[in-house]
Amino acid sequence: MRLIDHFIVGGSGGEPARKGDVFDPNNGGVQAQVALGTAETLERAVQAALAAQPKWAATNPQRRARVMFRFKELVEANMDELARTLSAEHGKVIADSKGDIQRGLEVVEFACGLPHVMKGEYTHGAGPGIDVYSTRHPIGIGAGITPFNFPGMIPLWMSAIAIATGNAFIIKPSERDPSVPVRLAELFIEAGLPEGICQVVHGDKEMVDAILDHPAIGAISFVGSSDIAHYVYNRGVAAGKRVQAMGGAKNHGIVMPDADLDQVVNDLCGAAFGSAGERCMALPVVVPVGEETAEKLKAKLIPAINALRVGISTDPEAHYGPVVTQAHKEKVESWIGKCVEEGGELVIDGRGFTLQGHEKGFFVGPTLIDHVTADMDSYHNEIFGPVLQIVRAKNFEEALELPSKHQYGNGVAIFTRNGHAAREFAARVNVGMVGINVPIPVPVAYHTFGGWKRSAFGDTNQHGMEGVKFWTKVKTVTQRWPDGSPDGGNAFVIPTMG
Ligand code: NAD
Repeated sequence: MRLIDHFIVGGSGGEPARKGDVFDPNNGGVQAQVALGTAETLERAVQAALAAQPKWAATNPQRRARVMFRFKELVEANMDELARTLSAEHGKVIADSKGDIQRGLEVVEFACGLPHVMKGEYTHGAGPGIDVYSTRHPIGIGAGITPFNFPGMIPLWMSAIAIATGNAFIIKPSERDPSVPVRLAELFIEAGLPEGICQVVHGDKEMVDAILDHPAIGAISFVGSSDIAHYVYNRGVAAGKRVQAMGGAKNHGIVMPDADLDQVVNDLCGAAFGSAGERCMALPVVVPVGEETAEKLKAKLIPAINALRVGISTDPEAHYGPVVTQAHKEKVESWIGKCVEEGGELVIDGRGFTLQGHEKGFFVGPTLIDHVTADMDSYHNEIFGPVLQIVRAKNFEEALELPSKHQYGNGVAIFTRNGHAAREFAARVNVGMVGINVPIPVPVAYHTFGGWKRSAFGDTNQHGMEGVKFWTKVKTVTQRWPDGSPDGGNAFVIPTMG
């Protein structure tokens, strides 16, 4: 069986003691195995990173940016192969896999401008003969721990900025679809990145704990589910590291009575069912405002959802493919059952869906459940599958309250033609990323990505200037070049600039 191995300077270190299965979501079964590393594996990666990082940090910024440019071109040239690999392990359709990589590449494009964003600040004449300047410096060694659902984009969010700012970077991808990050690391080396600056270690909790505890790793960026994000945050911070840890989500789409319902239905189908609902910016909850809006919306949603085509990830006609594992399929189906037990009205049931010729694939049909309420567990929790729940709200205030009070606060969208309502909603909603007639408001690379409440632990977001701040530390120099005449200052008093 094919082994997906670590990508570490000097090789992987021989036959791994433990391996994990990488499934074929289209057909069931195991397509490869991934090495599950240990603290010893990590140690070898850290030693290589320590050896390489000072020289990389001392390489001038435009040379580092040139590597990013070449890397961008190589990823583009290898897009088809990367997307095929991604689809084969994750199950998302090829066009969506290309989007996954493309959204990551946009952060690489941002990282090409690093000479500009790394520029410090300078104040001439802050006091008599005194200038103050601040400069940004890499942390040293950074690590990224990533989820299964964006195996292209999320490793690129982290690696592009960490590396361009002068760090050595070690990535621990999801063990469910680990191949794309390895290929990206190979392309970094092909682009001219020195060995040791981008390495990949595979593993599960054992490897994550080794990363959290390693004294030489100064910053950790995590994306995954909330309980694990919280754990990673606490343990990493307790070890004195800088940690950002993005967690789960349950994003709401508010539909005002004046919204263009045909557009909304179109947007909802993509945002709720695209990638089989396995996106942290999916819209698994729709909140129509008023009974009339709810009835009209439901009537339009039913035929649109019934028309969705579920297929294998290489089917160009498929709207979405299988979920990632059999265990995840069972989890999604059990949440559907739970929601019905709790009183939800099952309008379209996607359980027990099979695809002819791929009967063992991990498919879940599109599911619509109406009359879901805020006291249900199935509303409170993330289902992460192709399941859309309708939660009816009487008025704007009730609709605003639902996402605002939910445990997660990643993204939210409002659909309306009323500028005042949209403006009011955006200002007041207790959620980190807001879309106004935009169903999946993932911010562009030069802005920043991050949710609120249990969707993110730590205080800096991914990419944009927040990303640069996360992967660098600031040094501030106050310099004085006296002209030789005594200044008569009192050394026992805190100095002021006069
Ligand atoms: P996950 O939490 O199971 O895994 C994420 C990472 O943590 C993986 O690398 C995994 O190996 C590691 N891990 C798993 N169990 C661990 C443990 N007990 N201790 C330490 N590390 C452990 O998440 P997933 O299922 O791969 O991804 C889906 C989740 O990620 C969803 O909750 C989704 O909302 C979330 N997500 C959030 C964002 C965001 O930006 N907020 C983006 C994408 C995905």
